[in-house]
Amino acid sequence: MQDKDALTTLAWLIEAGADEAIAETPVNRLNAKPAAPPLVAPVSIAPRAVSAPSAPSGGDPIGDAQAAAAAAKTLDELRAAMEAFEGSALKRAATNTVFADGMPAGRVMFIGEAPGRDEDRIGKPFVGRAGQLLDKMLASIDLDRARNCYITNVINWRPPDNRDPSPEEAAICLPFLRRHIELANPGVIVLLGAVAARHVMGITEGIMKSRGRWLEYRVGNAMVPVMPTLHPAYLLRQPAHKKLAWRDLQALASRMEALGLPEPAVRGS
Ligand code: URA
Repeated sequence: MQDKDALTTLAWLIEAGADEAIAETPVNRLNAKPAAPPLVAPVSIAPRAVSAPSAPSGGDPIGDAQAAAAAAKTLDELRAAMEAFEGSALKRAATNTVFADGMPAGRVMFIGEAPGRDEDRIGKPFVGRAGQLLDKMLASIDLDRARNCYITNVINWRPPDNRDPSPEEAAICLPFLRRHIELANPGVIVLLGAVAARHVMGITEGIMKSRGRWLEYRVGNAMVPVMPTLHPAYLLRQPAHKKLAWRDLQALASRMEALGLPEPAVRGS
């Protein structure tokens, strides 16, 4: 496994609460015989204890993020919790918390990677060039963020100079994203690009392999269909691949039709 993959996997485990390696039986290492061959103990995973949803402890930003996210009962409360959150170095460097845009009531949710300069300045996801292309892609299947679909990112604060967020920076955002998905309660989710595919579904293979495939994500008691597709910023660099994105959008439109999405409350309104 490459170092980067190992770090990504580690961040995934930390975010899932598996932050301690514990043997099934206690080992008194003070009594271990020096000549004995090394023991390879089976490893079990200890879940992270969620701390009380109070002030940040300072030493456990991921635990603080989990507690703050779990305490939010509505999308507005989640947004407020993120705006008040003090455990992210990315947030300290950013101008705005980029929470979401659109209509969760449509129950079609798109998840991108991280805000860029324009998004950081305005405080909304996908408002730059990639966002303009995304809007055209949405319009091609009669979706419109002002009417019937919802957009957010894995990372809610712009990484300085648009660098890749570190695994720990991403792990701090993930409890918020998971709660965001629960509260938005989508009927279908589209992951825009490899970063979203990795953080939401744990996919480490390339987006060219995973795009267009239907997977499932658990929200409460329901399994929600999820499809990774190509990120619009990638399509701006590789316009020849728009035809693949178009195929994915067609598959999405068929799936939405079968599911009766967007929800009638907002469809065509
Ligand atoms: N790219 C993203 O992934 N998200 C944005 O909000 C903007 C560009």
